[in-house]
Amino acid sequence: MHEASLVLAMCEEIKRLAQKERARKVISIVVSFGEFSGIEEEAFRFAFEALKKGLPLFEGARLFIEKVPAHFRCPWCGRSYRPLEGPNCPSCQVPGLPAGGGELEIKKVEFLLEEENV
Ligand SMILES: [Zn+2]
Repeated sequence: MHEASLVLAMCEEIKRLAQKERARKVISIVVSFGEFSGIEEEAFRFAFEALKKGLPLFEGARLFIEKVPAHFRCPWCGRSYRPLEGPNCPSCQVPGLPAGGGELEIKKVEFLLEEENV
């Protein structure tokens, strides 16, 4: 359910972009989200496929998902690290804060623009 509302928000955003660009169709969409976002890639794809059926703008559009690996930042030394051996900073042994790899981000949208001389 979470994914469906995210996909809806993403499509609304892209619709606005498409109007601005005077685009007729969306060719491809690149989004990224991180391990901490809680977004399921499969559910996200599924929601997009379901939603785009009712939207001519998105007909045939391809969705590319980039997963951003989770990392932590140490509040003491500022070091950022992959939490491979637990969430503690490898230098200070204090618990780090999740950094990056968070919310959904639209990285790139490729549009098919309106032809000018048809
Ligand atoms: Zn540290």
